[in-house]
Amino acid sequence: MKSDNGPLFVHSARPNLPVERVAAILQAEWGISGELADVGGDRDQNLVVTTPAGTSWLVKIGQPGEVHGVLDMQLAALRHAAHQDPGLGIPPVIPKCDGEYLHALPADGGGAGWLRVFGYVAGKPIGTRPRPAALLRGVGGTMARLDRALAGFFHPYAGHDLLWDVRQIPALRPCALDIDDARQRDRILQIFDEFTEHVLPRLGGLRSQVIHGDATAENVLVADDRSAIAGIIDFGDVMHGPLVQELAVAMADTTSGLDTPWQGASHVAAGFDERLPLEDEELALLWDLARARLALTVSVLASRTVHRAEGAGSMESDMTAYQDQLKAFDAVGHNRAFRDLRRTLRLPEPMAVTGSGTDTETDRLVARREERLMPGLALFYPEAPLHAVRGEGMWLFDADGTPHLDCYNNVPHVGHCHPHVGNAVARQTRTLNTNTRYLYDSVLEYADRLAERFPGELGSVMFVNSGSEANDLAWRMARAWSGQGGALVTAGAYHGVTEAIAALSPYEAGNGAPHPHVAWISPPGGAAQASSRGDGGYAVDIDRAIDRLAASGYGVAATMIDPTLASDGILDAPAGWLNTVFARVRGAGGLCIADEVQAGFGRLGTAWGFEAHGAVPDIVTLGKPAANGYPLGAVVTTPAIMRVFAERTDFFSTFGGNPVACNAGLAVLDVLDREGLWAAAAEVGGYLRDRLAALGTRHETIGEVRGRGLFLGVELVTDRDSRQPAPKATARVALAMRRAGVLVGVEGPHANVLKIRPPIVCKHTHADLLVDALDRALESG
Ligand code: PMP
Repeated sequence: MKSDNGPLFVHSARPNLPVERVAAILQAEWGISGELADVGGDRDQNLVVTTPAGTSWLVKIGQPGEVHGVLDMQLAALRHAAHQDPGLGIPPVIPKCDGEYLHALPADGGGAGWLRVFGYVAGKPIGTRPRPAALLRGVGGTMARLDRALAGFFHPYAGHDLLWDVRQIPALRPCALDIDDARQRDRILQIFDEFTEHVLPRLGGLRSQVIHGDATAENVLVADDRSAIAGIIDFGDVMHGPLVQELAVAMADTTSGLDTPWQGASHVAAGFDERLPLEDEELALLWDLARARLALTVSVLASRTVHRAEGAGSMESDMTAYQDQLKAFDAVGHNRAFRDLRRTLRLPEPMAVTGSGTDTETDRLVARREERLMPGLALFYPEAPLHAVRGEGMWLFDADGTPHLDCYNNVPHVGHCHPHVGNAVARQTRTLNTNTRYLYDSVLEYADRLAERFPGELGSVMFVNSGSEANDLAWRMARAWSGQGGALVTAGAYHGVTEAIAALSPYEAGNGAPHPHVAWISPPGGAAQASSRGDGGYAVDIDRAIDRLAASGYGVAATMIDPTLASDGILDAPAGWLNTVFARVRGAGGLCIADEVQAGFGRLGTAWGFEAHGAVPDIVTLGKPAANGYPLGAVVTTPAIMRVFAERTDFFSTFGGNPVACNAGLAVLDVLDREGLWAAAAEVGGYLRDRLAALGTRHETIGEVRGRGLFLGVELVTDRDSRQPAPKATARVALAMRRAGVLVGVEGPHANVLKIRPPIVCKHTHADLLVDALDRALESG
């Protein structure tokens, strides 16, 4: 049998050069003499020569028809890999006395072609003895290392055709006809046909390079105590082909005899993936490739048994093992194999795998969550929970692959799973992750880049890991600076989860009373209320609160204000309101903290929310959007305030400002800068607000449209005269929109405000989709 590109040596006999002849050549050409022992082989005649001093070499004698260029390619690949990664444990090629590596045998050479000599690699074949998961991972890891070493290798003969290459299946199909057992024959022919039709056409699009191509239980060597991989031998099947074929061979040929061979194969894949991450299409084809390799092996061995004088040679005894291995892989089936593989590799859940996204699967997740997590941890849309498996830009995809326009999440600020942020995190995670007690650039670069965005003296930065921690730290700084202990917050404020900050979060307190050291001030209210109260009304309210704190002995350490007034119901504060609060608090000796956890990084159409109010705080806290979902919080203040706090504490946050978080944060700033997103929210947000307001002419339930930039609230009321909140209708509308594929939230003390807070990459077309979905949801009541 011959392919278009050279002989395949399906049925050729192994050469059998007399030992004395080999000894004479070794002596004359290599200057080596010693005891010779035949060690078998599939296609080559292999002998080990051991000198009286105990050094061993491997002598390989090839088929007469072998092409010189192909052998030269194999040896060059070996030398290249050894040079690139000297620790791999691959056999050195021993040159002849004249510097050449190949010795041509004359035509009378007893049916033999070329002769070459290799150094002997210590270790024993991994074989079929027990192979723990760690050892199997080592197999994959070693092959990945070898492929990394071979990645830059080129040779004109690398494209030669090779018997054991699954891409030869169409040419080798007749071999399967020699299988005795009719059922097995039919099954293998079916596997071949499926492979030819569905898998082969996809291989051309995969990453390809020169690969070893023969990681079998005989060729992968382990240390004597079997604790680690010692080396990899036999470069006789080196070829140019899909990279993933390397792994498929290792998975098929080093896991035979295990209780669960496919599980073992998944460990091999995980080891490979750790060093050379697999691509989706490669993962999808691994099982098919491994199964095809086994089917090919069984067929070639069956055919050799029939057509070759010496039968299947040294592999004949393995025939049953190969048949069993094929059966084991075949029984797993593509879908389960793929699922197991992804689980072992710890890959994110795939979309549209049979069984996910169904009601039963969702119910199962809800039940597991209830049992394992904090009871009552609220889900969005309890009637139709969203099982999210992937995000991209403005879109969240559920387990069925259905896209949902995400108009609620401000954390994926520059879009879900932005590749620039993802790469920054992945690269830094693989390079260095440590803490701010060591020197590294990224923390300073990030602090500089943040500081240049702030006005006045706001230029001293400390990093933590969440909005709550940032607020907690800011609160401690204010108490240290002022020497006082009281706080002013808006009556519906939410600032975080630590005990100190929960006390500053009336939203958490429900209908409870303020803590004694906390005064709740009235939020400025909607546009309608604002005009009736006027500036004087707020000032009086704030002064009263300050007096109360003074009278109870706490004094005022700080006010903490979220410039979006989000949990107060997303309110439009009248011009000057924030400055009024700040001036009064400063007058009482307190500091002004802007909680920019929601408002920051351009959301309101200005870099920071306080700028939209024309005010300048003393301390700014950052969180949520800072690193697009990677945990990162920060406090920005003046050097003087920072110094006073530093003198009183030895504050240090283990994870705060770690290099991975800082690189994620830098990547977010890169995207904001490059795409001009710092101010983009003003334009799209203005358009969206106008369109939402226009809906008010069609829907009486819309009481008010509030907010600015890409932080908008649509208040729903029972009727416009009474302005009675309509929380039930609000929940219904939000659910109807979710069912229509648009995600918004519900906010406010009366839960009657639709909260619209999309990633800042929201465009006009997204705004249109949102408005149309809201229109329909309101229409259907
Ligand atoms: N401040 C504000 C205004 C917030 O909205 C939040 C979170 N919702 C926090 C602080 C707390 O942030 P984190 O959940 O990251 O601790």
